[in-house]
Amino acid sequence: MADPAFAVAAVDRDQPYLSGLNPEQKRAVLATEGPVLVLAGAGTGKTRVLTTRLAHLVASGKTTPFGLLAVTFTNKAAREMAERVGALLGRPTEGMWIGTFHAIAARILRRHAELVGLKSTFTILDTDDQIRLVKQVLEAHDIDEKRWPARLVLSLIERWKDRGLGPDMVPREDDQSLGPRRVVDLYRAYQERLLTLNAADFSDLLLHCLRLFTAHPDVLGEYQNRFRYILVDEYQDSNVAQHLWLRLLAQAHRNLACVGDDDQSIYGWRGAEVGNILRFERDFAGAEVIRLERNYRSTGHILGAAAGLIAHNAGRLGKTLWTEGDAGEKVTIRGVWDETEEARQVGEEIEAGHRAGAALASFAILVRTGAQTRAFEERLITIAVPYRVVGGLRFYERQEIRDAIAYLRVIAQPDDDLAFERIYNTPRRGLGDSALAVLHTIGRARVCSLSRAAEIVVETDELSPQRRTSLRRLVESFRRWRGAAESIPAAEVAALVLEESGYTAMLQADKSPTAPGRLENLQELVRAVAEFARLAEFLEHVSLVMDAATGNGADMVNIMTVHGAKGLEFHTVFLPGWEDGIFPHQMALDEKGNAGLEEERRLAHVALTRAKVRARLYFAGRRLVHGQWQTNLPSRFLAELPAEHVERQDSFGQTLGNAGRPNHGMRRGDHHRVIAAPAPIAYQLNPAADGFLPGNRVFHQKFGYGRVRAAEGNRLDIVFDKAGEKKVMAEFVQKA
Ligand code: ATP
Ligand code: MG
Repeated sequence: MADPAFAVAAVDRDQPYLSGLNPEQKRAVLATEGPVLVLAGAGTGKTRVLTTRLAHLVASGKTTPFGLLAVTFTNKAAREMAERVGALLGRPTEGMWIGTFHAIAARILRRHAELVGLKSTFTILDTDDQIRLVKQVLEAHDIDEKRWPARLVLSLIERWKDRGLGPDMVPREDDQSLGPRRVVDLYRAYQERLLTLNAADFSDLLLHCLRLFTAHPDVLGEYQNRFRYILVDEYQDSNVAQHLWLRLLAQAHRNLACVGDDDQSIYGWRGAEVGNILRFERDFAGAEVIRLERNYRSTGHILGAAAGLIAHNAGRLGKTLWTEGDAGEKVTIRGVWDETEEARQVGEEIEAGHRAGAALASFAILVRTGAQTRAFEERLITIAVPYRVVGGLRFYERQEIRDAIAYLRVIAQPDDDLAFERIYNTPRRGLGDSALAVLHTIGRARVCSLSRAAEIVVETDELSPQRRTSLRRLVESFRRWRGAAESIPAAEVAALVLEESGYTAMLQADKSPTAPGRLENLQELVRAVAEFARLAEFLEHVSLVMDAATGNGADMVNIMTVHGAKGLEFHTVFLPGWEDGIFPHQMALDEKGNAGLEEERRLAHVALTRAKVRARLYFAGRRLVHGQWQTNLPSRFLAELPAEHVERQDSFGQTLGNAGRPNHGMRRGDHHRVIAAPAPIAYQLNPAADGFLPGNRVFHQKFGYGRVRAAEGNRLDIVFDKAGEKKVMAEFVQKA
């Protein structure tokens, strides 16, 4: 047999794409047959190995692109991988299947939808649709949604789906009862409803595929034959259903290559099973496990800091990482006064770096929670530095923020119909389209705003008593809030509105994984308002910010959550908010205890290892929470970073002795607000133009025929033949 070293050298000549790889990476590329697991730390070239492997499989003639299936974690990663493979091969990769688990499963399912009881045109439901459907199921089963929120039931169903369990497979001990019903019965009913609607939710894409494959071996066989080689990135974040799906597809050829890092498993809260990667050798007998230890991404200090941090986790395989790169700059930890100062300092450094020639895209601000982006967005807008929020919406574009701002707009500007329409039934208060139609009719007839129309209509019987009460409550609330806006600070008005409108309660009752983040966004909004004395000033600011936010061009600073940054790398990474309660996040600690803390630590490790050259950690001594300054302790993770790899700085960027805990440098109670001046509120009300007189015989759309008893402008008292005496609007009445 040929000397393997010689074989590798010979291959290099013919296959230039291999030339840059180290021996282990080459081995991982060339071990094309049989199951392979590349288990290696961040930045060791796992993704690069996968890309090269795809190119190699085609270039060496082992298969055409048609025989390849590659699974990536995001659609963006899929696009990039396809481009790189194309570049390595010098031609496009048509026919290769590359995408996320969901995208690929959907593609398969569309072709065979009939076999699982769907039509190929099936709809893929989003979370809102799912919730609506679960609500219907709860209703049909007489389950009190107040006690058992739809979101909660849905999340129980989702966890089963993550594990590949259909309603018939749920173990009894996993089930629980909701009053007289069992959750599994609701699950079954939910699945039945989905089929009737010709719809599937995201997890169904995989579940249906699993059923399809098991029930129709011929179909499975077709895909097993087709996909000679299967490759999976970020395997540590796959769930059980995905694992089963892969196992079925890879059964025939057994050429499954997975890459991952147990220290970067950060989706446990969404059902990911780090166990998949730890069990790989057992599940795929004879698997070759390749470890990559050389890190190509980060400097020595960054790597050392990250390694020291993750070493505090107990449940891990443990690995060595080294780099031939420089030790580089130490990771800096800087304590600042508050979040505004944090954003200011980050903005300043980006500006200076950019002036010195660095591309904006080489900077990333990685936040633990979505609400943290706000301060940075505003700062970057202020200093006119373009940015993008990767994998999410800009702060002021988020649904809950738009809703809250709509309330504030209606307070400050009662004629703002767009804002009124947005919130008149959010949270739900039983005011549907028909009530809105009534308001529109009045608005058109009187040339007045919807708010004004609402004020008018609640004095009449146009709406059913229930709707009228509900609308009256809203009208009265707005009156009260407008009064408050004249006497208390804008931020307090905002907090009051969120509370009294039921918006906060709506999100608190919401058990979906996104709800806590949305509540945090609302708190952050109140903080944003606190920077202004008057509502009108804040609203003015928002419209300017929204306008400025349409930056274009490719070179922009990246702002994203740490979760969203997985797999990516940047020259300079800013990591704000390393405070206990934020990072580690309080919820993870409260709900999952030590397991939660370990997942947070892996997340912190992912965050640090995104940096190539510079990592800057910040903690603020205080943050505004519910309008109150709250003092935070520096994150416990900061203390876990090995002293030799970090430089602690004070709030001015001066180095502190290593022993010196950074001083928060806070002043208490130095925050003051200007009391809002009263904002003039004026309605434009056109005088009545209809000539109804007492005694007129009239016809009303809803109440039928009647006779006018009294007329006051456009408000008529009518004695209806059938409905009795009612107050109605002239707009809805015709002379009979
Ligand atoms: P993560 O765990 O964060 O996903 P990874 O293991 O997938 O990291 P890659 O993103 O593939 O790592 O590689 C990290 C960086 O190192 C990339 O910039 C990549 O181009 C570079 N790199 C990888 N292997 C080599 C090599 N042999 N020579 C030079 N650079 C390399
Ligand atoms: Mg990667």
